[in-house]
Amino acid sequence: MERQFKRTKIVCTIGPATRTREAIRELARAGADVFRINFSHSSASEALETLEMVRQVREELRLPLAVMGDIKGPAVRLYGYAEAVDIAAGDVVTIESWKGDDPENSAVKGPRHLWTNLPEIDTLVKPGQRVLLMDGYFLGEVVAIHVGAVDVKIGNSGRLRPKAHLTIPNVDYPIPFLSSKDVADIALAAVNEVEYVALSFVRSGTDIEEARRLIQRSRTKAGGRPRTRIIAKIESAKGLANIEEIVEAADGVMVARGDMGVEMAIEAVPIAQKRIIRVCRDSGRPAITATQMLESMIESPIPTRAEASDVANACFDSTSAVMLSGETAIGKHPVRTVETMSAIIRTAEAEFDYETFHALIPEEVRSRDLPSIVTYSAVSMAYQCGAAAILVFTETGGAARGLSRLRPRQPIIAFATDELVRRQLALSWGVVPLSHSGAPELDQVVAEGLSAAKASGYLKPGDRAVVVAGLPLTKQGSTNVIRVETVK
Ligand code: PEP
Repeated sequence: MERQFKRTKIVCTIGPATRTREAIRELARAGADVFRINFSHSSASEALETLEMVRQVREELRLPLAVMGDIKGPAVRLYGYAEAVDIAAGDVVTIESWKGDDPENSAVKGPRHLWTNLPEIDTLVKPGQRVLLMDGYFLGEVVAIHVGAVDVKIGNSGRLRPKAHLTIPNVDYPIPFLSSKDVADIALAAVNEVEYVALSFVRSGTDIEEARRLIQRSRTKAGGRPRTRIIAKIESAKGLANIEEIVEAADGVMVARGDMGVEMAIEAVPIAQKRIIRVCRDSGRPAITATQMLESMIESPIPTRAEASDVANACFDSTSAVMLSGETAIGKHPVRTVETMSAIIRTAEAEFDYETFHALIPEEVRSRDLPSIVTYSAVSMAYQCGAAAILVFTETGGAARGLSRLRPRQPIIAFATDELVRRQLALSWGVVPLSHSGAPELDQVVAEGLSAAKASGYLKPGDRAVVVAGLPLTKQGSTNVIRVETVK
């Protein structure tokens, strides 16, 4: 199947089911825009191999495909049992804070005595505190507190897998935001000019600044300053409470519904999704809606009706991208899943009421600064003159993201001379990144842009196109020109 235009982008997680050049090529042909390397399950050498495969496919298909390295972050887990443990409703388990170096070496004290890497657990909770084990599968309650340990009464039966996640909702975990592995993984991404890193369990703008300092301290292989952009994964009540400052500090956000559904009440997740997408969109940052979007396709060749609706509704919420995790990492039908997701997206987009959306854009979003005024006016003109496409000449990608935030009906054909900027724009809603020669004259690059958009099938003779640029062309942040062209 060949790629067709869709505005909402697809992020695919690469895993054992797809870590080959052939699989990555097929996923890209089916509509994948960004490939996610999950550092929770990926060694540095595997990550480098995957990066190389994506590079080869990108060159082969001549597509600006991006990579997102997902950093593990401050995970809290249970240790001290090598095999799965059967737990019955009503059982009381002791969870003790491990004081040694590596909790994986913690002593085995029996199936009802577990260890955790969370320090001083006894100081963090009170009797009655809700505690969740294994991503919320087991619901427990603290019934007694000891020095360095707590007793938790489990409310349901099941089998606890080794190294299961431990969650204590609404508690600030006293562990560093970035582990030494996280620091090494961020450096790997920066050195190799990976387009995005996603940071897990972001709580505040300060967390983003810490990672940004690490990126800026690194050097690319060519000796340059890395420009890896940062996606903040929102997955806790604290992250959601600080969403405005996090969005301001980050370059995009992921609605990480998996952990969010454990850390917060499950019924709060759809509302959080809408709020996060709105804040991101209004500030011109991409928002990725993630987790369990087509989960049943890990096994089944077709999704459930509810999953199809979930993907379509994320589009109606105006998410920039939707993400696949297990579906493409370990699923039985990865390519079919991306084809299905692409079809759901295109069908939802055909129904979206772009003109009403445009009319309802709030005043503070329309005219925040000069680039906002120019991009808003350009989209208004595109509707008024019936333009078939909006062309934008951009140095850093900022003008293209400024148009993307307005969710226009017309494809946003973004011309950038810098390859990394083009690949980063793969994540932006509605943006088709193309290259231009970098000629200094606006007339020349506009002529080039019109013929490139025609060659790619976005324009035909007689169509109108609205052109957005900044003069001088190479100056960053100077969006100040709108032109209307008729294609010859
Ligand atoms: C999530 O929790 O939804 C998520 C995307 O993060 P991870 O896959 O790292 O758990």
